[in-house]
This record gives sequence, C-alpha cells and structure tokens, in this order.
Amino acid sequence: MWKPANSLYWQSKGECAKPENKDYVDLFFSSEISKKHEAKNLCFICPVRAECLQWALENKQLWGIWGGIDEFDLRRALSVSYTGEELKRKKPPRCPYCSARSYKLSVSTEKIPGGGRWTTAKIVTCANCNFSWRSRTSANAINAYKQEREERLRKSPEPPHTTSDS
Ligand code: SF4
Ligand SMILES: [Zn+2]
Repeated sequence: MWKPANSLYWQSKGECAKPENKDYVDLFFSSEISKKHEAKNLCFICPVRAECLQWALENKQLWGIWGGIDEFDLRRALSVSYTGEELKRKKPPRCPYCSARSYKLSVSTEKIPGGGRWTTAKIVTCANCNFSWRSRTSANAINAYKQEREERLRKSPEPPHTTSDS
C-alpha cells in the first residue's frame, strides 16, 4: 500500500549503510554497467528495499541506484525525462519493484490534505507485488495504455495468455 514517503527512517537499516559495505557506496552512482550490477545486487538483499524505492520515487530521485533500480528505470516508473519533465512514452511504466508489466498496474486517486494546486494524488499499484507509488504522469501513461489496449482488443482480440507492452 502507498503511504507518504517523506521520512528517511529506513536509511540506517539499509545494506549500503553497514560499515562492512562501505566500499559499495561509490557504485551507486557509477556509469559502469558491472558496478551498477554490484550495487543492485546489494539492494536485492536489503531489508528496506521497498521503503528506499518508494522514497526515491516520491522525492523524484532521477540519478543513481535506489531500491535496486537505476536512473533509467526510476524515470520510466515516473514517466519523466532526465530533467524531470513529463514524457509521453510509447511504452508505459512497469512495476519498479517486481518488473510486472503495465497490465498488472492499476491507478487510484487519493485526496491530499492541504494539497493546494494538486488536491488529489494518483497512485499506481502493482497487483503482482502490492508495491505502489505516486505519480500523475505514470498514472496518465498507464490509463492511456489501458485505453489503447482495450481498443486494440476490441478490434482484434488477442489469443489467451499473450500480453504485450508495446
Ligand atoms: S535498497 Fe539499496 S540503495 Fe536502498 S538502502 Fe538498501 S542497499 Fe541502500
Ligand atoms: Zn510489482
């Protein structure tokens, strides 16, 4: 379930915070593929991976590795460019936690107390792993994808068990 991720309480419990893993720290912002893999592998055994990923998405961290995914997947989950601007993608986001495809993702709306200009939040939830994150742009992309998919299916129904993001 989604909850506001505005606290860093989880950070001291992360694998990357352990003194024995201090050599990993530089890997999280490396551009070398092999180093990125090493960092991601540490994330995958981390007990606060979900909290870390949710915080990164909530706070639009668009660089580095957070919760086991790199900047490209962070931006894909949020449907934004490297400068944080909304992108209309042909391929909609996958679940950033378990990589489930878009048809597993659903969109809901929540009121934001004192939300000012934005009085509602769009929450995307994965039916596969129950991870959820807040993003208007990714929610819009998923809604558009689902509409397109329904339209496509109406015109030419897919055989059972074939699903595609493209
Ligand atoms: S998920 Fe990765 S980046 Fe996040 S706290 Fe754990 S080890 Fe560190
Ligand atoms: Zn998932």
